[in-house]
Amino acid sequence: MITYSIGLRNRFRGITVREGMLFEGPAGWAEWSPFLDYDDATCVSWLRAAREAAVDGWPAPVRSAVPVNCTVPAVDAARAVEIVRASGCTTAKVKVAEPGQTLADDLERVEAVRDALGPTGRVRIDANGGWSVDEALRSLKELARFELEYVEQPCASVEDLAAVRRRTDVLVAADESIRRAEDPLLVRKLEAADIAVLKVQPIGGVRACLDIAEQIGLPVVVSSALETSVGIAAGVALAAALPELPYACGLATVSMFTSEVVAQPLLPVDGLLPVGRVQPDPAMLAAAEADAATTITWNARLARVESLLKGSTG
Ligand SMILES: [Mg+2]
Repeated sequence: MITYSIGLRNRFRGITVREGMLFEGPAGWAEWSPFLDYDDATCVSWLRAAREAAVDGWPAPVRSAVPVNCTVPAVDAARAVEIVRASGCTTAKVKVAEPGQTLADDLERVEAVRDALGPTGRVRIDANGGWSVDEALRSLKELARFELEYVEQPCASVEDLAAVRRRTDVLVAADESIRRAEDPLLVRKLEAADIAVLKVQPIGGVRACLDIAEQIGLPVVVSSALETSVGIAAGVALAAALPELPYACGLATVSMFTSEVVAQPLLPVDGLLPVGRVQPDPAMLAAAEADAATTITWNARLARVESLLKGSTG
C-alpha cells in the first residue's frame, strides 16, 4: 500500500496536487482518493469502491473499449481549440458559467469548440450548478445554436434542475445532484434530468453504480473523480459493464496529472479507452510516493474510515 502525491497541470477544485492511496488485493490494484476536504463519513463510499476493486473485482464487461470526451476548462477560444485538437476525441465537454466570466465568454468558447469538432462532433457543456433557473434558460437559448448534446448540472438544486428541464429543449444531465445527494433517486422522482452522470468512488463502486443506473432509469455518463489510471480503470469497468452506453464518458482526465503510476496511462487513442485492469510500474509508483508526513495523515484517515465502514456494515 502506498500514499501517492502527484502534481496537476492546472488548478482543479482549488488544488494543485492530487493525493490518495493505492493498494493491491487479490482482484488487483485499487485507488482510494477522497478529496482532502471531505469528512470521514463521506469517504466511506469511496472506500467501498476501493474494496470492490481490490477484493471482489468488477462485473464482466460487455464491450472492449469505451468512448471518452475531452474536457475544455474555462479557457479562451484559442486554447479551447488546441485542447480539442490535441485530444483526438470527437466529443468535448466545455465548462461554462465560470465565476467571474460572462455569457459572452461561454459563447466564444463553445463556438470555438463546435468549429474545431465540425458538425459531426458532439459538444456538451457543464455549468457545475453555477446558474439560476433564469440565467440557465437565457444562456441555453443562446448556446443552443451550437447544437448541444446536453447541459450538465445547469443549477445547483434538483428542484431548479427540474424547472430548467421543463422549459428548455436541451437535454439536462445531473451530476452533483446524484453524487452529493442524500437521495440520488430524487432526480428521477422530480423528473429533473434526462441523463445521469455517475462516478465510481463517490457512489461506492461499480456495482453500486450499476444499481443506481437501473433504479434511476436514465442513460449514464461515467465520469472520473480525477484519479490515477488505477482509479480510472474502475470507471472504465463501469462504462464497460453498462447494458447501454449511448454517450462518451468523462474518463479522459489522466492528462491533467503531471506524472502517472502505470507505464501506459489510460489516455484515449482515437477517442477510446481500453477495458481491463492496470498494473502500476514499481519505479513510477516509488517516484509518486508521498512524503512521510502525508503518508502518516493518509494512514490515519484510512484507519478512521475503515472503522466507520465496519460499523456501517455490521
Ligand atoms: Mg460535472
